[in-house]
Amino acid sequence: MPEAAAIAAESPARKEKSGPQKAMDKLGLLRDIDLALHLPMRYEDETRLTRIADAHEGQTVQCEGIVRDCRVEFRPRRQLVARLDDGSDELVLRFLNFYPSQQKQLAPGTRVRVRGELRGGFFGREMVHPVCKPVAEGTPLADALTPVYPTSAQLPQAYLRKAVASALQRAPLDELLPPASVPPGLPSLREALHFLHHPRPDVALATLQDQTHPAWQRLKFEELLAQQLSQLQAQQERAALRAPPLATMSGGLHERLLAALPFQLTAAQRRVAEEIATDLQRDRPMHRLLQGDVGAGKTVVAALAAAVAMDAGWQCALMAPTEILAEQHFRKLVQWLEPLGIGVAWLTGSRKGKARTQMVARVASGEAALVVGTHAVIQDDVQFARLGLAIVDEQHRFGVAQRLQLKRKSLVGMEPHLLMMSATPIPRTLAMTYFADLDVSTIDELPPGRTPVLTKVFADSKREQVIARIRDEAAKGRQVYWVCPLIEESETLDLQNATETHRLLCEALPGHSVGLLHGRMPAAEKAAVMAQFAGGQMQVLVATTVIEVGVDVPNASLMVIEHAERFGLSQLHQLRGRVGRGAVASVCVLLYTSPLSDTGKARLKAMVDTNDGFEIARRDLDIRGPGEFMGARQSGAPLLRFADLNEDAALLEQARRAAPALLQRQPALAQAHVQRWLGGRAEYLKA
Ligand code: ADP
Ligand code: MG
Repeated sequence: MPEAAAIAAESPARKEKSGPQKAMDKLGLLRDIDLALHLPMRYEDETRLTRIADAHEGQTVQCEGIVRDCRVEFRPRRQLVARLDDGSDELVLRFLNFYPSQQKQLAPGTRVRVRGELRGGFFGREMVHPVCKPVAEGTPLADALTPVYPTSAQLPQAYLRKAVASALQRAPLDELLPPASVPPGLPSLREALHFLHHPRPDVALATLQDQTHPAWQRLKFEELLAQQLSQLQAQQERAALRAPPLATMSGGLHERLLAALPFQLTAAQRRVAEEIATDLQRDRPMHRLLQGDVGAGKTVVAALAAAVAMDAGWQCALMAPTEILAEQHFRKLVQWLEPLGIGVAWLTGSRKGKARTQMVARVASGEAALVVGTHAVIQDDVQFARLGLAIVDEQHRFGVAQRLQLKRKSLVGMEPHLLMMSATPIPRTLAMTYFADLDVSTIDELPPGRTPVLTKVFADSKREQVIARIRDEAAKGRQVYWVCPLIEESETLDLQNATETHRLLCEALPGHSVGLLHGRMPAAEKAAVMAQFAGGQMQVLVATTVIEVGVDVPNASLMVIEHAERFGLSQLHQLRGRVGRGAVASVCVLLYTSPLSDTGKARLKAMVDTNDGFEIARRDLDIRGPGEFMGARQSGAPLLRFADLNEDAALLEQARRAAPALLQRQPALAQAHVQRWLGGRAEYLKA
């Protein structure tokens, strides 16, 4: 967050920061506006006192009275017990853990205000661990509800409350939006924030909880508007950028590649290739997403686009998120392009030393026309002489920062065209909002001759039967993947599990070659195992999820996924896509361990029900929500804090309508609004 960091560095408080202040920084509470936008998760009512005699059990109330008695008792364990008397009745205050200071605070004769849940105890009515405050008689009550903020262990609620209250006074909350662009009936931003931090006690709490209160609506609208404006700005900025026009040339590499392919393109592939070629001819940078189900044949479309770029005398870079995936691309491209006399350069993290230096030099001189690799392609020392086209596979798995970096790689001061590929389609709501600035091409048809994969779900106890099935497949000359569970917390456990399964299968399948593939293996070893499996010398491949994408072995007909309940839907679909690549009927076995949660059941059922990646993505979104989708984790910030794309569709529509006019008529205000809401995140959202 460069913007926020800059502000922090400029702040006058250069001296060592206190613990709570550091904790605030960690929560992203840097600017006054950040604190003003840090909203309570709930409220406490300290605006009234309840007579002890009138309080009901189970109610959370505030009472005030005189401490009559306070002592440490041992029944059965050590505890502090005090009696509070307010003239109407008595109340026992009980503390199972307490500090000496608390004991002092509750000295008999002291007037205290206590707040807590009233319970009916064995010794009369009581509060356990109430909040206590010594007060003078007649101390005024709060006139607004007391906010309770989301916080961390290092940041006491009281400290945060004060910080928010004073930031709320300082924050520049002047009205930026002309009344016409705000939906009618909503308060100003200042009113909305003051209200939400300190609501009057007579508010209907339900409208605060479900966020239907006009003050909430105002905030959500502002946020959605900021996001829409930043999308429009991105569109305008991109329209002003220049990219090299890459025209298709007759008799060139593109034509020769098409003629040399061992298969006919599907109609869908022809259509999307055409859409991409049209974009490439323009002098504005392409910003296109190519989406298509697993196995739909995106790589060849990417290769054709690369050929167009090379025909026009420009370089092309293809990046994939993992080394295995990058290598799959590399091998395909070599297979297609080398016979046509085109060398493909290879650049990954594991390529070091002289080989790397030489490769980097060839990229910088422009000699390497096509570079394939992992994120190593965008490392600092890599500069392209003339980067005309950048292709990013499985784009959602790349950090946004990496994508931004890729765009800045060309030495000639022109933007490269950008083609992103994904097997996970973007749901409509997201396409309309976050990706409004993205053109989408969809391959909606699989190459002919594929047999749909049959998916079966088994309890883990049926493992023996599954192994028998593996034996049958191997005997028929087919090949099998066994995917080991994902243990998020521990790569070590992942590995242990895979090693153990590998040993078991080796024992159970004498006479067959069983290989092991996991993330910790050196790249060369991985490549060797993959080559054996791809070449058919190995019948069974036990793997952690490193094979998730990109592996292409048409003879593989059975995929077993252990602990399938631990995987996300899209991931299961990606994995399943590794089989059914040839004409043989293929099966995917999902093993689960009981008990299965309801979501777990829903997930596995979705896999059995459909082979359609788009349908699966839709269900995945239902189950997980859109956050994950966007790789929000990589950018380090949630995308929408207040609004919800599904629930607030009406507000979203209003923001979409208001944004263009505001940007056109009052660009400075629009910019100030985006800055207020998104700060340094704006650039991320445009990538
Ligand atoms: P994905 O879209 O999942 O990246 P790939 O590009 O890896 O799919 O393609 C999957 C397989 O299908 C590859 O072996 C590829 O060569 C093959 N393929 C692609 N297009 C066609 C086609 N039109 N006809 C037959 N096979 C094709
Ligand atoms: Mg692919």
